[in-house]
Amino acid sequence: MKSIAIDFGGSSIKMVLFQDGKISKRRTIPAYSHKGLAPRLADTEAAVRGMLEGEELREYAGVGIAMPGIVDPVRKKVLGIYDKYEDSKSLDLEQWCREAFGLPMVMEMDSKLALMGELNSGCGQGYKDAVMLILGTGVGTAVAFDGKILNSRNYVAGALSSHIIINMDGDQCTCPNSGCLEATASGWALERLVRSQPEYIASGLAGEDEINFRILEKWYLKQDKTAVSVLKKCVKAWRTGILNLIHAYDPELVVLSGAIMNFRGLYQMLTEGLDRFIWDCCGHVEIKRAEHPEDSVLYGLYHLVKNFMTVYN
Ligand SMILES: [Zn+2]
Repeated sequence: MKSIAIDFGGSSIKMVLFQDGKISKRRTIPAYSHKGLAPRLADTEAAVRGMLEGEELREYAGVGIAMPGIVDPVRKKVLGIYDKYEDSKSLDLEQWCREAFGLPMVMEMDSKLALMGELNSGCGQGYKDAVMLILGTGVGTAVAFDGKILNSRNYVAGALSSHIIINMDGDQCTCPNSGCLEATASGWALERLVRSQPEYIASGLAGEDEINFRILEKWYLKQDKTAVSVLKKCVKAWRTGILNLIHAYDPELVVLSGAIMNFRGLYQMLTEGLDRFIWDCCGHVEIKRAEHPEDSVLYGLYHLVKNFMTVYN
């Protein structure tokens, strides 16, 4: 089966072509997601068309779309999203796919897709009760019971654990609350965190044009004081997030994914000694890092299109 996958992330838009479960081509363009989704659709279409050159469109089963917000996969609508692609709630992406590619479209939230991808093609194969923590521009979470992604009346269950408040006196989030996990430690919250450090001016980070986790890693490896202290704060927040997910959903597996998981040594920092803080009754909980943290969502899209084709054909 051939399919198209488009992951509208907070920082970049990733597009791939799948052939029989394997990525055959890929393109990435910047997202500028705070400006909305509509202004990026023409470039997205052009990039996908570029990949499709020399291919027969009619051999493609459909387009899978990932969004960084709460999605109703039945009505194919974005229900809840803050700060990124805010116009997407009023866009008809199904119609866009039909006009741009003449193909049917399926859509789901990125974090749920990441878990779907890992359970079907990645480190979660063989597990049924699992949770996902995906560390990127924002923080995404998802839950699966008995191999199925947890869903609720508004598709919120399991998907908003990054907005569980871990510090009642914490910083403002992009959502209406303060002190959420995502507001404490995430790609978008990093710059604020770095600049608020008392020794920031003396830090190597002060001379950087932009602040992201790749730059933080560079200075962390040089043992820059501010970089070390910021990473320590992030690790503490994410460990709290992992514990909250375990105690809320009782999984046998926690999958850690997203581009930030490429940070050297982060997996060890997140997991070392964590079992001492997990309630006894939860038994042993496996914590794994996705093998290809940047592709978890894309593999989820492959399975979403494949399942759609099985159901409707
Ligand atoms: Zn929040």
